[in-house]
Amino acid sequence: MNPRSRAEAAYLGLALGDALGATVEFMTPREIAHQYAQQSGVHREIIGGGWLKLRPGHVTDDTGMALALGESILANDGRVEPLACAQAFDAWMRSKPIDIGNTVRRNLLLFRRSGCAEAPPSEYDAGNGAAMRVLPVALATFGCPEAEVIAACRVQAHVTHHNAMSDAACEFLALTVQDFLRGESLQQVFRQRIQPLVDAHPAFAFRQRARRENPGGWVVETMQAVLQALVDVDGFENCLVDVVNRGGDADTTGAIAGMLAGALHGLPALPPRWLKALDPAVRAACAGQARALIG
Ligand code: MG
Ligand code: MG
Repeated sequence: MNPRSRAEAAYLGLALGDALGATVEFMTPREIAHQYAQQSGVHREIIGGGWLKLRPGHVTDDTGMALALGESILANDGRVEPLACAQAFDAWMRSKPIDIGNTVRRNLLLFRRSGCAEAPPSEYDAGNGAAMRVLPVALATFGCPEAEVIAACRVQAHVTHHNAMSDAACEFLALTVQDFLRGESLQQVFRQRIQPLVDAHPAFAFRQRARRENPGGWVVETMQAVLQALVDVDGFENCLVDVVNRGGDADTTGAIAGMLAGALHGLPALPPRWLKALDPAVRAACAGQARALIG
């Protein structure tokens, strides 16, 4: 499997996880088990609905912001420029998206007033809103020195989230996606990325903890749930089903798990029935951007 097809699987995985998880966003695992009692208590089909009353196969801000960011990178010859990122997110907000995070909205409104494409540092801006949209940066900087990858991650993240834990998650996700694109195994990635992340930021520790159910929008809870599912559950479909059935910010845990598991397992692992259910325009945009960004 070549990096291009893994990149496409990562981008489609992001959209599939978003579409699957949105149905059960903000629910508890108990509520999900009750609602899907006739499906053995497990939500595992792309059917829309949820608190957003999403049409089947449609996606939310996670995929929407990633696509806006990817377009701006492509329009800038593959460069991740602060002002271009901020303008792309602002244009996306003006398009009246179906959902938008509080931190994203607040700091984009600040950008409109100040023209400054970097939000002020804030210990409170540790939501998952920058991490969920980092994939286009990982693809555009594939093959670049690690320092450049990290710098580009921070440029895109700091438009709305200027926070050390958010940065740690964004950088981890971009570098891990790139490892998987190169064909590295989960065991290798565990040693060279996951363990060092937990060593540097013990808040992300997830192995010794109980299963992280109902993960909220705090990037630490999001990453704990995603890493538990990625490490403990085999295969693309089962990994995404596991993480979204924990409820909480399920579209975002689904999206992030989808990009990682997509890059790890590749296109053949994506369930055909999910791809068929995905909005054709979203599917084409994700696949097209993945190929264009990786060059
Ligand atoms: Mg969302
Ligand atoms: Mg969400």
